[in-house]
Amino acid sequence: MLPIIDAISDLLHQGPDQAMHKRLDSVFQAQQENRYAISKTTASERIAKLKRILRWIDNHRSDIHKALRADFNKPEAETDLSEILVVTGEIKHAIKHLRRWMKPRRVPGSLTFMTTSASIQFEARGVVLIIAPWNFPFNLTMGPVVSAIAAGNCMIVKPSELTPATSALMGKLFAELFPENEIAMFEGDKDVATMLLDRPFDHIFFTGSPAVGRIVQQAAAKHLSTVTLELGGKSPVIVDKSASMDDAVAKIAWGKFMNNGQACIAPDYALVHKDRYADFVQKMSRTVEKYYGDSPEARKTSEHYARIITERHHTRLKGLVDKAIEQGAKLVLGGTADASEKYLAPTLLTDVPIHSPIMKEEIFGPVLPIVPVDSVEEAIGIIHKLEKPLALYMFSNNQKNINTVLSGTTAGGTCINDTMIHFLHPNLPFGGVNFSGSGNSHGFYGFRAFSHERALLRHHRLAPMKLMFPPYTPMVRKIINLVVRYM
Ligand code: NAD
Repeated sequence: MLPIIDAISDLLHQGPDQAMHKRLDSVFQAQQENRYAISKTTASERIAKLKRILRWIDNHRSDIHKALRADFNKPEAETDLSEILVVTGEIKHAIKHLRRWMKPRRVPGSLTFMTTSASIQFEARGVVLIIAPWNFPFNLTMGPVVSAIAAGNCMIVKPSELTPATSALMGKLFAELFPENEIAMFEGDKDVATMLLDRPFDHIFFTGSPAVGRIVQQAAAKHLSTVTLELGGKSPVIVDKSASMDDAVAKIAWGKFMNNGQACIAPDYALVHKDRYADFVQKMSRTVEKYYGDSPEARKTSEHYARIITERHHTRLKGLVDKAIEQGAKLVLGGTADASEKYLAPTLLTDVPIHSPIMKEEIFGPVLPIVPVDSVEEAIGIIHKLEKPLALYMFSNNQKNINTVLSGTTAGGTCINDTMIHFLHPNLPFGGVNFSGSGNSHGFYGFRAFSHERALLRHHRLAPMKLMFPPYTPMVRKIINLVVRYM
């Protein structure tokens, strides 16, 4: 039978699931066969691949803009800053430093090892799986792909099903630039992800919600695959009495409403010193008006304001706002919603009861609850009641308060007097703690996530250890005693 008839017959007789399993198996197998050929590649060969991607992105910049507009009305300027620039920055950084990253790192020995040399070699993990979310669909798929290529891996990529236009475009990129036995993309929802997770990948790099992160970690345990989990949660922002208020509101409003608040490191809620509370609320309202329009209609039609990704999330967010108001929160700005457009106005809430669901679950939308606090200690107490955050922000000019917050909390990353931009720093690791994730990405840390650090010891001359081999004669015991005592 012709192969095409074979494939159709498979589809008819076994159903789409089995056909998918078969295709997955064949791609997975092909990548496993290819993995050492790819892991042996030199820095120059990997850099050439990264340059090809860079050129492709350059040539398709307007296609990327269009895809993100189609997926959730993302403004072109935001796509440039938070999708394209992040990926091209990651590529350029890797191109510049890859030769150094790949070099074995010599490590010093002790007296016992004076006749040896020891080093750490970075070797590719092998065949890796990258599962990405929808909220920065280009950035959060391509970023890990860049690190995985730099580290010399083969990979299967599963983007989110909620951003089909961006996924289709990335599928085109991979198909044009890489053979399937090196990089293959599988589109689909959790069913496809579940099928993929059944395979014994050497590493799984997952970005998404903590709930699905748990499922991924459990699936990985079956094959003892290593995992990097880039998860989410509630990222607080503290504004103390000494904060420079104009600067603080400008940066918090940008961090909160960019991407329609659908960023894992968006400031989730604000804890503001009570003496500066009224000023903060008033300035935050003015800033939102300045960014997106000074009337409800202007904000709704603003081309600088994206949309909620799905009806489900729109309903969830509206529900959180309504419930908070029902429980006593006051609506300072926004609150209006239009389900047909998945529009939720930029919304500011004050007097939010701390037990309200909006103060418990990750908001992931354009709503900022503002809570007054008496002191940074009270703010820390509120943060401690929740899971460990992915990001924690603080606006302050008081070093003592900054130290109190840093030493009294934990978070994946922290900006003092800014929001979000630690994500863009090429030399900082990006990742969470426990609930908000484990492992890191970006730059060298991304390269490291996709590498195994192999310990290599080489013996050169005499081996003093041999003096302590059996039989354990009195002389050997004496030497061992000396070693135990003095080494
Ligand atoms: P999600 O967890 O629903 O989905 C992420 C990916 O997992 C998607 O590709 C999806 O198809 C897949 N998936 C869904 N259910 C699955 C299952 N049962 N088994 C296997 N795979 C499954 O997350 P999302 O809604 O796409 O993204 C929002 C979440 O991601 C938020 O919690 C946010 O904080 C987090 N996030 C974290 C980072 C980070 O870098 N730490 C970045 C962006 C988003």
